[in-house]
Amino acid sequence: MRETERLYYEDVYIKEFEARVLECRKAKKGYHILLDRSAFYPEGGGQPSDTGTLGNVQVTEVHEKEGELLHYTEEPLEEGAQMTGKIDWERRFDLMQQHSGEHMVSGLVHEAFGYDNVGFHMGGDVITIDFSGPLDEGQMAVIEEQANRKVWENAAVKITYPSSEELAVLPYRSKKELTGKVRIVEFPGTDICACCGTHVTHTGEIGMIKLLSVVKFHEGVRMEMICGKRVLDHMNVIGEQNHQISMKLSARPDQTAQAVERLWEENYRLKGAVMRLEEESFAAEAEKWAGAPEALIFKEGLESDSVRKLTDAVLQKCSGRCAVFSRNPDGTYKYAVGEKDGDLRQFTKDMNAALKGRGGGKPFFVQGSLQGTEEEIRSFMESRKG
Ligand SMILES: [Zn+2]
Repeated sequence: MRETERLYYEDVYIKEFEARVLECRKAKKGYHILLDRSAFYPEGGGQPSDTGTLGNVQVTEVHEKEGELLHYTEEPLEEGAQMTGKIDWERRFDLMQQHSGEHMVSGLVHEAFGYDNVGFHMGGDVITIDFSGPLDEGQMAVIEEQANRKVWENAAVKITYPSSEELAVLPYRSKKELTGKVRIVEFPGTDICACCGTHVTHTGEIGMIKLLSVVKFHEGVRMEMICGKRVLDHMNVIGEQNHQISMKLSARPDQTAQAVERLWEENYRLKGAVMRLEEESFAAEAEKWAGAPEALIFKEGLESDSVRKLTDAVLQKCSGRCAVFSRNPDGTYKYAVGEKDGDLRQFTKDMNAALKGRGGGKPFFVQGSLQGTEEEIRSFMESRKG
C-alpha cells in the first residue's frame, strides 16, 4: 500500500501543490496515479471527488481504495516525476459550501425535531437530504432562518480527533458505528458530526442557505436545498422569469402573482363567452341541416371539444351520418363522425387507413385526427355515401 500525505486535511484551501509520482498503474480505463502528497479530495462522506490537473494531464476522478489515494487520468504519468497538481477550486469551494450548509441544516433539524439525516445526495444542481420524520413548509422556513443566522455569526468550524473515551460522551451525529480514528466536525452551537469531507473554516463562507422544498418521502421527508453561489444563480434564474412576466403583464415585479390571477379570471370569462357564442353558432348550423340525409362540414380552427359539440348538434337535426372536419395550424385535421343508431367501426377503420388517421370511440360516435387535404377527405366521403 502506498501512503499519500493528505494535504486537504492539513489546509483545506490548498489549490495548487507540488508532488512526486509514486506509481502509475494501467487501469481498465485510463490510469491510476499515486502521489507522495495530494490536495485532491477523494469521493466520500457524500461529497463528490475533486477534479483538476496533474502537470498537463486531466484528473477526472479521485477515489480512496484500501487506504490508497487513486487519481484517475486518461494519460499516463512518468513514475518519479515531480509535478504541479491543481484542483478545480471553483468546483471544490462550491462543494464545501454545500457540504457545510448541509451539516448545519441537519444539526438544526436534529436539535429541533430529533430526526436523523438518513440519506444525503450532493447533486450538480441541488442537495437532497432525507429526514426520518415529517416537516412542513412552515417548519422548514423556521429552520432556514435559524441556519442563515448561524451562517452570519461566522463561527470558526472545529475539527478534532477525540479519543474513544471523549467520543463516548460526545453528542455527535453519525450514520454508522465508527471504529479507529474518528474525525469530528463541529459547527459551534449548531452541529457536531463525524465526517471525512472538506468544510469551510468559518460559517460565513457558506454565504447563504436556501431551503427549496420539502416533500413526503418514505416515513419522513426529502428536502432540497442550495448554498453559497448556487443561491445567487438560483435568484438570477427566478428573477429573470419574474422580470419577463412583469414586463408582459405590465405589473410591478412584486405583484406578478396578482396580475396572473387577473389574467386567469379574464381567460375564464372569455372561455365562457366563447362557449356561449359557439353554442349559438352550432345551433344555427344544425338548423341548416334539418332533415338532410347526411352532413359534411368543414370548419377552421376548432378545439376537439368543439368539433364534438358541433357534430352532436347537427346529429340531432339530420337524419343520417354527420361528419365534421376542422383543420389544425399544421395542416392536419381533427374529426368527429356520428350516426344515430349507426355502426361506424368499419367506416372509421377505412377512413383512418385511407387518410393516415387515428382515433375511434363508440360504434355511433367517433373522434380522431387525420392527414390529407380537404379534397381527399371530400372524395373519401363521396365514395362512402350511404
Ligand atoms: Zn459530512
